[in-house]
Amino acid sequence: MSPKRNTRQRAAIEKAFDQVSRPLSPLEVLDMAREYVPNLGMATVYRAVNEMVKEGALHPVELPGQSPRYEKSGLHHHHHFHCHVCDRVYDVDGCFLKPDIQLPSGFKVEDHDITLSGRCPDCD
Ligand SMILES: [Zn+2]
Ligand SMILES: [Zn+2]
Repeated sequence: MSPKRNTRQRAAIEKAFDQVSRPLSPLEVLDMAREYVPNLGMATVYRAVNEMVKEGALHPVELPGQSPRYEKSGLHHHHHFHCHVCDRVYDVDGCFLKPDIQLPSGFKVEDHDITLSGRCPDCD
């Protein structure tokens, strides 16, 4: 594979992440990036996504029982909504962790994940 073609594929994959503000699965990335590079393959998407994770541009979004999605790094604190009909994952702005949450003494929260699930407007 020539370096030039490589760059074009990588640019198409980056464009997919620029187009939407929600986490993407590798398959969604493939679908979107194929608009720019029709012969793009799944292996190339996995390779580019892994590179972008290593570079710190992307990070994995792990949801219980789900294959990982990826989102851009450096987003402000937010949570995720998983539509169980179309399987898309959406960002939910803000935080709904109760500040007065009761923890056993001596415990200190440093991080948390909250995932909502249900139906998105497209599937309702
Ligand atoms: Zn949906
Ligand atoms: Zn939060």
